[in-house]
Amino acid sequence: MRGLALLLVVGLAAAGAPLRYEMTLSVSPDGLLQGEATVSGTALADWTELVFRLYPAALDPTYLRLTGAWREDEELPWRAVDPTTVEICYLVPAGQTFSVALEFSGRVPPFGEDRGYGSFARSPQAWVLAQAYPVLAPWNGSWTVRPALPWGDSTVAEVADYSVELGVPQGWTAVATGREEELAPGQYRIEGENLREFAFVLLRGYAVQPGSANGVLVRSYFPPDRTAAGKTALAVTLDALQVYTELLGPHPFPELDIVAVPLRGAAGIEYPGLILAGEAYYGRFSQDPLFFPMIFAHEVAHQWWYAEVGADQVAEPWVDEALATYTSGLYFEAKGRLPELLHYWDNGYAAGRSRNPGARITSPLSAFPGGAGYGGIVYSGGALFLHALRDRMGDKAFFRALRRFREEFRWLIARGARLLEILAEESSVPLDDLYHAWLGR
Ligand SMILES: [Zn+2]
Repeated sequence: MRGLALLLVVGLAAAGAPLRYEMTLSVSPDGLLQGEATVSGTALADWTELVFRLYPAALDPTYLRLTGAWREDEELPWRAVDPTTVEICYLVPAGQTFSVALEFSGRVPPFGEDRGYGSFARSPQAWVLAQAYPVLAPWNGSWTVRPALPWGDSTVAEVADYSVELGVPQGWTAVATGREEELAPGQYRIEGENLREFAFVLLRGYAVQPGSANGVLVRSYFPPDRTAAGKTALAVTLDALQVYTELLGPHPFPELDIVAVPLRGAAGIEYPGLILAGEAYYGRFSQDPLFFPMIFAHEVAHQWWYAEVGADQVAEPWVDEALATYTSGLYFEAKGRLPELLHYWDNGYAAGRSRNPGARITSPLSAFPGGAGYGGIVYSGGALFLHALRDRMGDKAFFRALRRFREEFRWLIARGARLLEILAEESSVPLDDLYHAWLGR
């Protein structure tokens, strides 16, 4: 029996315990956040430390900070490298499991005071708490710690399983990545597997419209005076799910929530199984027959490209953004509207290049200071590049390559160079001249 037990233990270690967050979070009516997390997994090398990111602290160090770290009963020394990065002393050999308990606290600012997109902010009817906990940095021979820039998306994270006990002020409803269960008024349990990050919103006085497509439960949440826009958001999401499922394979999660919230400098933001969309666009959706559906077509596509197939959004933002933007075009193509998108991308790419002539589709986020030319070059230019590849390769080879890329990097962090290799391998005609013309390589 001992031998058998030992074999079982060795077997588990070889497979590696998946990364897991068990958290207790509470939010007070005045926006104070208290949290505890036990983060466990398998060391991918001989580690001497664990590195965690506190993304909301990029806006202000008081928004989120670590207050303690423990290994069983032993308090661990740690240091803040910068407000968004902490190194915790933790010795663990390669292949062994680790488990660290963290305590943290923070403050959710009123929307407007946050100076960010509104993804960590509270307004009278909606609070958004994205990345409201320490996120383990990815390991790739060393800890991947990218600067948290004020434009684009800063998050670079591995998928993990989450189990969260969430306490919220009375009268608020929680909507989150993963599955929400209301245990008692103001008390939720949220569970999710393979989530690239955990985020939740708290809503008050919202309306909800449910629907489903290809077995995925979709819920559209919106202020009650925005019903027509909220229903349109749901319809676009359901249609997009159908189109993408057919061309790329099934949606990676059983549920998808779409929520109108105040945002600034972003029309939509993607999380695993959760999409935030700028409430202001709901107010003028009928005057915006192209851009309004584009928000949802784009963010739904991120469920495949970002949530499932991860990207290093700081070093290679084109990998998920060009794919998500091009995939959004497939929704419009199914509606007979691809020419409108191509026109929009053409204009965007030209405008982006004139604003930032030195940057390329494959440039890192740092090459777009203040976000100059970022959307035009990376999103629109990247989508045009993928369209040129599809034109050359033909639909069969192009979509075969995308599905293969998805298979290879499911729940991992993809590399752009590998996407280009797979496309070239699946193509029966050379693509080198297109890579040279569009990417300069
Ligand atoms: Zn995007």
